[in-house]
This record gives sequence, structure tokens and C-alpha cells, in this order.
Amino acid sequence: MDGVSRRSRQGVLLVISAPSGTGKSTLLNKLRDEFTRLAFSVSYTTRLPRGGEVDGREYHFVDPDTFSHLRKTGDLAEWAQVHGHFYGTSRPAVQRMLDEGRDVLFDIDVQGARQLRQAFHQGAFIFLFPPSMQVLEQRLRGRGTESEESVAQRLSNAHRELEQADSLDYWIMNDNLEQAYQDLRAVYLAETLRRSYHPRLQDDVLRGGSDPAA
Ligand code: ADP
Ligand code: 5GP
Repeated sequence: MDGVSRRSRQGVLLVISAPSGTGKSTLLNKLRDEFTRLAFSVSYTTRLPRGGEVDGREYHFVDPDTFSHLRKTGDLAEWAQVHGHFYGTSRPAVQRMLDEGRDVLFDIDVQGARQLRQAFHQGAFIFLFPPSMQVLEQRLRGRGTESEESVAQRLSNAHRELEQADSLDYWIMNDNLEQAYQDLRAVYLAETLRRSYHPRLQDDVLRGGSDPAA
């Protein structure tokens, strides 16, 4: 990265929501491969790990009592019940990453995205669309991670989630993966240029000081 985005600035929030199976994880992993300084907000969840998921990497897997305790102590910046399980974002973990000037990615549902906007007052909020309900079903089944019951529940919730897409600011269609990736990348790079993340830039230039991060 260069230009304004290279200079010392605050960490940005990039939030992505979509029906299960649309391609959020696939796209976020591509973004993290290209921009290795990007951090991922590891959520708490009461659902069980899928094969290949590692505690502390995809999620912090907790029991319902632990989740309820986190909620009561105010440790969650947002939380929601999704597909019959609880999911929530760690407020201290996110704050720590932002304080370090790191950009943070969130894979959360629409209800959570709305709460996060209230909690942090900034960020790029993206809704990712599947090309059709038929393709969504194929992707969800093709991933091979869900029981028949879970597939049915996720597809039925997909309608409701698509109806709420207008509470997010950017709409990306995940039909062609490479095109969707270029769109996501563009939103991320534009977000890093937002004025509010550069509180000192104007003064630095006016005073003629050198940028310590340059
Ligand atoms: P989500 O994180 O939104 O639940 P995933 O990233 O797990 O979705 O993607 C669901 C499945 O769809 C995966 O098997 C993934 O490889 C596949 N997939 C994602 N994007 C595309 C795309 N543009 N074209 C075809 N398959 C895709
Ligand atoms: P999955 O079980 O497929 O990993 O995720 C199910 C849904 O929960 C997805 O829509 C995902 O975006 C959402 N989700 C994951 N973590 C969080 C979180 O911390 N908060 C909220 N509100 N939703 C989350």
C-alpha cells in the first residue's frame, strides 16, 4: 500500500454479511492472503466446531453458560442468535487490534452488523449476494459441512437475511469469484482513505513534519 493509506492512521473496520454459503470466508481469506496485516475478529460461538475448524482461529467455541457470562459482563460489542446458536464479537479484542492500528475484518450477520455500527461509529459495511437461491443451495451443499437440517435452516434464514441487505452500505455480487474479490478489495482500499481514519494527516502536512510511519 502507498500514498495516504501508508501513513500512520487508525485501523479500519471491514464488515461482511451474507447468507450462509454465499462465500464470505472464501473472500475474506483471499483478502487476508493479499493484505497480511489484516486482522480477523474471532467471534465467540456456542455452535460446535466443524471438521477442520480450530478453537481460537475460526471461532472461540464456548458453552451457553460462558456465552451468557460474556454478555452480562459487557465483553461483547454485539451478539445475535443465528441458525439456533449464539454468536458474538469480543469488544476488548477488537479494541486492542484497532489501538495497534490494525485493520479488522468481521464475518457477522446483519443484526450484528447493525449493532457494530452503533458500537464503533465507523467501518465499511458490506452485504454479499449469492447469484440466486439455487446457486446458494448448491454452494452450501457443495461445502459438505452441514447436516440436512442445518442446510434447511440456513436456506430458510437466507430469505430473511436478503430482505435486510439494505441496512448495509456496499452490495457485492459473488457470482464470479475473481470479480467479487476485486470489488471487495476496492471497498477495503477506499475505506483506508476515509478522512476519519487520518486524524493527524492534515496537520502533519501543514506543519511540514515528517511522517514517522513513512
Ligand atoms: P460463507 O463463509 O459465506 O458461509 P464459504 O466461503 O464457506 O461461504 O463458501 C461456500 C462454498 O461456496 C465453498 O465451498 C466455496 O468454495 C464456494 N464458493 C464461494 N464463492 C464462490 C464462487 N464465486 N463461485 C463458486 N463457488 C464459490
Ligand atoms: P457459521 O455457523 O456458518 O460459521 O456462521 C453462521 C452465521 O453467523 C454467519 O452469518 C456469520 O456471519 C454469523 N456470525 C459469525 N460470527 C458472528 C458474530 O460474532 N456475531 C454475529 N452477530 N454473527 C456472527
